[in-house]
Amino acid sequence: MTFDLTPEQDQLRDAVRALGRRYGHGYFVEKAKAGEHTTELWAEAGRLGYLGVNIPTEYGGGGGGITELAIVCEELAAAGCPLLLLVVSPAIAATVLTRHGTEEQRKRHLPGLADGSQKIVFAITEPEAGSNFHRLGTVARRDGDDWVLNGRKCYISGVDEAGHVLVVARTEDSGTGKLKPALFLVPTDAAGLTRSKLDMEIVSPENQFLLYLDDVRVPADALLGESLDAGLPALFAGLNPERITVAAMGAGTGRYAIERASEYTATRKVWGGRSIGSHQGVSHPLAHAAVQVELARLMIQKAATLYDAGRDLEAGVSGNMAKYAAGEAAALAVDTAVQVLGGAGMTTEYGVATLLGAVRAGRIAPVSREMILNFVAQHVLGQDKSY
Ligand SMILES: Cc1cc2nc3c(=O)[nH]c(=O)nc-3n(C[C@H](O)[C@H](O)[C@H](O)COP(=O)(O)OP(=O)(O)OC[C@H]3O[C@@H](n4cnc5c(N)ncnc54)[C@H](O)[C@@H]3O)c2cc1C
Repeated sequence: MTFDLTPEQDQLRDAVRALGRRYGHGYFVEKAKAGEHTTELWAEAGRLGYLGVNIPTEYGGGGGGITELAIVCEELAAAGCPLLLLVVSPAIAATVLTRHGTEEQRKRHLPGLADGSQKIVFAITEPEAGSNFHRLGTVARRDGDDWVLNGRKCYISGVDEAGHVLVVARTEDSGTGKLKPALFLVPTDAAGLTRSKLDMEIVSPENQFLLYLDDVRVPADALLGESLDAGLPALFAGLNPERITVAAMGAGTGRYAIERASEYTATRKVWGGRSIGSHQGVSHPLAHAAVQVELARLMIQKAATLYDAGRDLEAGVSGNMAKYAAGEAAALAVDTAVQVLGGAGMTTEYGVATLLGAVRAGRIAPVSREMILNFVAQHVLGQDKSY
């Protein structure tokens, strides 16, 4: 057993950290408040190969795994730039395409994802179905060689920045007549696809949207994979990378908040010559949060290692646990940082309250803490489902 990164992974960590720090949380917040995107940071990360670390080299990527992508997510977040679209485009879309796309789809989409010039976002959540994906109501129907999609999706991140949206829809199984899931690469400018931006209480340069699909017609090759049978495995293929990278983003955000807070409490003096950090009422909550973040990081490392070793089922358990642990740790770290900074904690200048909305959302999305607890209760503890 080793807890060390390889020299290449260490170099990647240092290089991404340096890039993130050059931009910093001030840049992230400025973009968010101006209603703009982190275009420069994304483009530079793409040019330097960080967005494609997990994409095979023959499609322009770095040939690494989810371990490398998790390093990128964590270090950018630890520099105050938690980029949600890393979880959607390189983690979900690139993995799904690599594992289950046709060769033609891989050639067409992966090089652009690797260099950052293209983004593909992911649409599964629906207003009616919520956490219950068995109730998805978006339907794809065959019409000649084309597919015609109808339905509604909600909270879809980054549609305004993406060339395509990977839509999860239901199709009819010709054998059983049952509806089964399939994934479609739908251009964001397709006729019949409209969107409206949701007002979210999250300081972020990335936006969420309601999507309406009204008779959206796409050609046969928009169906991800060789046949309808690719749908379910492709859907599951995206879940582990999603959970692991979102957990890494949470751990990085927790580290960022604790670092900001520790710098402050080590130097702030309000009772004579002692720093406020010398009072255990201040330092213990911070130390407690640091322990929780470090525990989450360990589980992320385990999940990523299992995933990259092709041990998907075990990675599923660890990935869910990592996502749970990191979501809770990030929320605790940011809340604690705000508290120990006092009034300064609520200012934009000190850059921690700006993350409150994001870490709160991290306990809900992309899978809620309750649904993870349901998963663990059922698959690890052998309990019956209540639903
Ligand atoms: C910032 C943000 C970005 C997002 N980006 C995307 C995206 O890019 N693409 C996408 O497809 N989706 C996205 N989502 C949607 C996200 O995945 C969902 O919000 C999440 O899966 C929860 O679904 P819901 O909101 O419908 O909650 P609901 O399913 O309505 O659940 C509401 C509450 O009830 C709890 N609950 C529900 N069922 C059970 C049960 N059986 N047992 C115990 N508790 C239960 C849930 O845990 C939750 O706390 C995003 C959401 C947010 C907030």
